[in-house]
Amino acid sequence: MHGLMMDDPLIITRMIEHAARYHGSAEIVSRSVEGPIHRYTYADAYGRVKQLGNALQSLGVQLGDRVATFAWNGYRHYELYFAISGVGAVCHAINPRLFAEQLIYIINHAEDRFIFLDLTFVPLLEAIKDHLPKVEGYVIMTDAEHMPETTLPNVHCYEDLLAAEPDQIEWPEFDERTASSMCYTSGTTGNPKGALYSHRSTYLHTMFVVGADVFNINNAAVLFPAAPMFHVYAWGIPYASTMVGAKLVLPGAAYDGASVYELLDQEKVTMAVGVPTIWMMLLDHVKKEGKSFPHLEATGIGGSAVPLSMTETFEDDYDVRVYHAWGMTEMSPVGTTAQFNARVAGLPTEERRGFQKMQGRTVCGVQMKILGEDGQELPRDGVAFGEVAVRGPWIISSYYDNEDASKSQFTEDGWFLTGDVATLDAEGHMQIVDRSKDVIKSGGEWISSIDLENAAVGHPGVMEAAVIGMPHPKWDERPLLVVVKADGADAAKDDIITFLGDKVAKWWLPDDVVFVDELPHTATGKIAKLALREQFKDYTLPTAS
Ligand code: ADP
Repeated sequence: MHGLMMDDPLIITRMIEHAARYHGSAEIVSRSVEGPIHRYTYADAYGRVKQLGNALQSLGVQLGDRVATFAWNGYRHYELYFAISGVGAVCHAINPRLFAEQLIYIINHAEDRFIFLDLTFVPLLEAIKDHLPKVEGYVIMTDAEHMPETTLPNVHCYEDLLAAEPDQIEWPEFDERTASSMCYTSGTTGNPKGALYSHRSTYLHTMFVVGADVFNINNAAVLFPAAPMFHVYAWGIPYASTMVGAKLVLPGAAYDGASVYELLDQEKVTMAVGVPTIWMMLLDHVKKEGKSFPHLEATGIGGSAVPLSMTETFEDDYDVRVYHAWGMTEMSPVGTTAQFNARVAGLPTEERRGFQKMQGRTVCGVQMKILGEDGQELPRDGVAFGEVAVRGPWIISSYYDNEDASKSQFTEDGWFLTGDVATLDAEGHMQIVDRSKDVIKSGGEWISSIDLENAAVGHPGVMEAAVIGMPHPKWDERPLLVVVKADGADAAKDDIITFLGDKVAKWWLPDDVVFVDELPHTATGKIAKLALREQFKDYTLPTAS
C-alpha cells in the first residue's frame, strides 16, 4: 500500500525560487574575474537565472543536454548552476586544473554541447578546441566591454545573451530523478569517471549538508566556499546557502591567504569550507600579520585529512570551531562530518580532539560498513580496518557511461566501494587509515601515511609533509617522509624523527626524511602521491642497501 502523500518533486529550481521570495534581500557577494567585488541579492540572482534559462533555450539546449562550465567561484557560475538544471539540462562543472588530455576526454565523453567559460580560461580552451568536435558554441562569462579577441568558434557574450531575454520563464516540468549536474573524478589512475547527480539527490544532499549533524547552517550564517565550484559543486555550499537564504560570499579566482582573509573579514563570514591547503595559506597569513578572526565561527575542512595541529590552531588560538568532513565526488560529496554526539560533546577538550582527528560520524542518510579483503563485513569496534563501503540517496549507483569502472567499484548487492581504508566504531565514528593505494605495507602490517603526515606537520619547522612507501628488501615497503620546510625554518632529519617518536608506533618511524622545495599537487589541491612516487622512483632508502 502506498502512502497518501503528494509526490511533489524535489527540484533544484525550488531552492532559488524560495530564496528569492523569502530571502530576496540576502546577498551574494563575489570577487569577479574582471577585478571588482560584485554584490547583488537572491532576488536579483533569480531574475538573471530566469533570463539565462531563456537564453539556454534560445541556444537550443534541451532536456538532458550537457552544458559545461569552466569557471571560478562567482555569481555567473552560480547562475549557471540553477539555470542549466532548471531547463532540465545537465550542468557539467569541469575542473580546469586537469591536464589537457583529461579535459578533452571529459568534454567528449560527456558530449557537452556548449561551454561557458570565465575570461581566464579562453587560452586554455583555444588550445584544445580543435579536439572538441561536438561542442557547438562557447559563451564567455563577461560583458561586451571585456570580450576578448578569440579564435574560439561560435562565441557568445554572456551578458549580451542575458540582456536579450525576459526575466520570466515557465520552467519545464520533469521527474525529480532527472539528471541535474555532473562531475568527473580527477582520475589519478586511468581516465576520469563521471558522477551524474539528479535533482532529487542534490536536494536531499543539500538538506543533509545544512543539517545540525553536518555543517549546521541557518539563515543567519554567512557562507564562504573556498572549495572550488568546479570541484563537486563546492561541496554543495551554493545550494545550501540558497536553501536557507544565507548570505553567500564567493572568492573568485583568488585563493591566497591575503585575498581570502580580506573577504572573510569584510563580509563577516561565519562559516568557511575548503581543503587543508587553503587554510594552511590562510593561517600562515593571519599569523604573519598578527590578525584574528572576529566573525568566523566555524570551518568545514575535508578533501584530505585535517592535521590535529590545524584544528588546535583554529580552535585554541582563534576560537574557530573545526568540522572535519569526509566525502568524494561519487558521494555528492559529503559522507561524514566530525560533529560531536552528546557523549563526546561532554568530554574534556583533549579527549574530544581524538574525535576531531577522525573523519566524522555516520549519520542517517549514508549507510556505511567496512569490508575485509575477503569482502566480509568487519566489526564496528574502532580497531578493525577495511575498505569503506557506502549506500545512500546521494551516492552514485554507477558511473556515467563506464561499465568497467562501475563493475569494479560496486559490490554485487549494490554498495559503492570508496577505495578508502578506515576503522568504524560502535557510535559510527569513522577514521580513515589511508587510501587503499597509498597505505604502506611493512612486514605484512599496514602503516598509515596519513597519520605520519599529520604528525609531521605538527613540527613547527614543517610546512607540508608527504609519506610514501619505498621498496625494502626485508620489510617489503618502508615509509619515506618528504618535507617542505616552513619559511626560514631549519628542521633537520633527526629532529623530525625525534619529534615523531612519541606520536606514532616506533616501527612506523620513517626510514628517511628528504627535504624538497615543493610537493606535487593534484588538480584538487591534494598531494599527488602518484607523481611523488614517480619523482622518487630511483631513490633507495639508506636502510635498503
Ligand atoms: P579526487 O581527489 O580523486 O578528485 P575526490 O575529491 O572525490 O576525488 O576525493 C575523494 C577522496 O579524498 C576520498 O576518497 C578520500 O581518499 C579523500 N578524502 C576526502 N576527505 C578526506 C578526509 N577528511 N580525510 C582523509 N581523506 C579524505
